[in-house]
Amino acid sequence: MLDRLSNAPELPPEIARRRTFAIISHPDAGKTTLTEKFLLFGGAIQMAGQVRAKGEARRTRSDFMAMEKDRGISVSASAMSFDYRNFRYNLVDTPGHSDFSEDTYRTLTAVDAAIMVIDGAKGVESQTRKLFEVCRLRDLPILTFCNKMDRESRDTFDIVDEIQENLAIDVTPASWPIGRGREFVGCYDMLHDRLELMDRSDRNRVAESIKIAGLDDPKLAEHVPANLLEQLREELEMARELLPPFDRQAFLDGTLTPIWFGSAINSFGVKELMDGIGEFGPEPQVQSAQPRQISPDEKKVSGFVFKVQANMDPKHRDRVAFVRLASGHFERGMKLTHVRSKKPMAISNPVLFLAADRELAEEAWAGDIIGIPNHGQLRIGDTLTEGEALRVTGIPSFAPELLQNCRAGDPMKAKHLDKALMQFAEEGAAKVFKPMLGSGFIVGVVGQLQFEVLASRIEMEYGLPVRFEPSQFTSARWVSGPKDKVDRFVQANKGHIAQDNDGDVVFLTRLQWDIDRIERDHPELTLTATKEMM
Ligand code: GDP
Repeated sequence: MLDRLSNAPELPPEIARRRTFAIISHPDAGKTTLTEKFLLFGGAIQMAGQVRAKGEARRTRSDFMAMEKDRGISVSASAMSFDYRNFRYNLVDTPGHSDFSEDTYRTLTAVDAAIMVIDGAKGVESQTRKLFEVCRLRDLPILTFCNKMDRESRDTFDIVDEIQENLAIDVTPASWPIGRGREFVGCYDMLHDRLELMDRSDRNRVAESIKIAGLDDPKLAEHVPANLLEQLREELEMARELLPPFDRQAFLDGTLTPIWFGSAINSFGVKELMDGIGEFGPEPQVQSAQPRQISPDEKKVSGFVFKVQANMDPKHRDRVAFVRLASGHFERGMKLTHVRSKKPMAISNPVLFLAADRELAEEAWAGDIIGIPNHGQLRIGDTLTEGEALRVTGIPSFAPELLQNCRAGDPMKAKHLDKALMQFAEEGAAKVFKPMLGSGFIVGVVGQLQFEVLASRIEMEYGLPVRFEPSQFTSARWVSGPKDKVDRFVQANKGHIAQDNDGDVVFLTRLQWDIDRIERDHPELTLTATKEMM
């Protein structure tokens, strides 16, 4: 089955072989280790440990990154590409901390599937559940990897039950673990009737795979101790009776997840998981857009910005827009139209992210993620096309849940604050509101930690110490409606009005009651907690 390039013969083969996905997990479940093994088997790195080593080298360059390290969280997302067998994998990294859920949400708009990693001893944890809910909003297909099976883990049926009940998704075992903890010897591959044995002696070696003819094959007894074999037979019989079989459509609809059991650190189960994404897909999907959706096989190139990362290299003040290609075959040097400004842009230095290195992208296909260095023209939600006025939809901007006043620590440098905050607003790192009355800015974020990250980044990248202080407001709502009505509302509520970085009108308050009252008294106005980025 793996020799077949695709499940989508209608797509050009280069597009059909692309798999663009993200990994969601609770911190410590093994996302980094799994990523590292993907890259190792994909030939993108030579030695396990490089992902971290490279990360470290970059981190020492800034306090912001040092903070990330101290807290053991990942606050910056990136994209990595690698080949394995017939497939090109594009892995988009999601920030793991809940304070960055907005960023994560947008990242998940750029992928076609997600791998959910859970710890075999801990099961479904809080952050897994949150991220899973985000995937569900988009009906993303999910593959599950139950990690750390080399250690004492929970009963297999318990784990499967917990996922089914906790996340309300059907679970079908793609593999079944044999023995637990110290006794764990490997897995029975239920989709291909194979025995996969774990090699504890060499952590970077791909495990042995033994083809067998079903559970009665005498070869099984040669490799699996008698007591475990007995148990395996019983459990498999029960599993086949009680759990749903694999159904590709249900998987693609996001209502059923296949689960693999393994140990990332021992490189066990990783290959099967990669094969699973290759075999079942999905390939690059149709992208929703206005006034029409975009199909990946369209000849013309289109793409959208889902993330902007500034100052990746503080020496150059560069800014990279991460673009997911929605259609076509992109070649370096192409001129694309930046739909929002209607201006042409020559894309002469696009980058691909291979492991932790950047490389010039000579070409890319629908499904790929390319980085476009720019000076601020490209913003989250922007669409690039070969001329047609298409606008990709579904990339939201959330109302911040925490608001604080931001002041420059050094009043002489106050005007630089404006520039720094605008940049972070465009990067999507915070909402920045300029109140109609009074001076200074109100900065809105989704989680407290973001204030700290912002403060250290502004100091690092702009040499500007800043203070965040409590604001009198706690909620922000975008106001829309007929222009004269909005204007009248603004004039009557000056003390509560601000503009966001796009110049849109925002109502600030500390009372939900206020919001309810306005909705009641001004039916012609709409107050929204999210705004589509455009
Ligand atoms: P992340 O926070 O999800 O990125 O998790 P990491 O990949 O950093 O892993 C967290 C810890 O679990 C690290 O100490 C890893 O070495 C360890 N770990 C990862 N995979 C396995 C595994 O399969 N078995 C065991 N025993 N430990 C693992």
